[in-house]
Order: sequence, then structure tokens, then C-alpha cells
Amino acid sequence: MTAVEVLATADGGDLPAVSGAYLLWLPLGRPLDLSAPKPGARLAAGVYLYVGSANGPGGLRARVARHLRADKRPRWHVDQVTLAAGTTARALAWPGGSECAWREAVQGAGASVPVPRFGASDCRACPAHLLRLDDAEPDDPRLRP
Ligand SMILES: [Zn+2]
Repeated sequence: MTAVEVLATADGGDLPAVSGAYLLWLPLGRPLDLSAPKPGARLAAGVYLYVGSANGPGGLRARVARHLRADKRPRWHVDQVTLAAGTTARALAWPGGSECAWREAVQGAGASVPVPRFGASDCRACPAHLLRLDDAEPDDPRLRP
């Protein structure tokens, strides 16, 4: 555990508009059939975690708010999962942090990779940016980088 500031949010509106990494906590109450990146892949019911980074205008606040919005048009692979999780989704934010370091920490704490490469098509370091850790709640210490 490094000395980091991790902020939790239900809609992103309370996050700082700075660059950094975020982790989405996405519980699925029922299986989800994915149309991408591999049609036919299915996520079983359970708790999924997605790590990403926000470096554009609006930083963490804008990016996380977009992820947690229910009325968005699907654009990224993870949108399938956030739309399925709906209002139960939560986000943690790590101002100044690294999505890949966060993935490594959570995977090291026991999370598995449900779909190889999911969310990490432009990342050479990670097997995926979507993980699964079924018994994790948003305040679980294992979800801290
Ligand atoms: Zn990565």
C-alpha cells in the first residue's frame, strides 16, 4: 500500500477535475453477453472492476461522470458493463495515479481476468483492464492501489 488519496463516488460530480486513475466497481446481478471485443463472450454474475485513466479536459470528474451516466451511447467496451450495472456502479479515483499500477495491485490481491485484453487494447503491460473479484465491496481495502 502506497500513500495515495483514493476518493469514492456514486456519480463523479464530487471528484477533482485533475488527471489520474479511476476504478469502477461494477456488480452484475445476472450474466452479461458481450458484443465486443469478442462476440459470444459472457460475463457471469459477479463483481467486476475496471481501471482507467483520465487525462483529458475535466479530468477524473468528467470521465467518471461519463462512465456512471445511465443515458450514454456505448463507445468503449466497458460501456457494456457500466450500462448493465446501472445505478449500482461506484467509482474510486486516484488523483495522479496509474491505471496499470492499480490493476497490478488489485490483481495481486486476488482479482482474476475474465476476458483477456478487455479494456486494455492499447496497453502492453496489462492482461486486461477489467478484473473480477466477487466478494469485494467498494470500501474493500483490496481495491486500494
Ligand atoms: Zn494497463
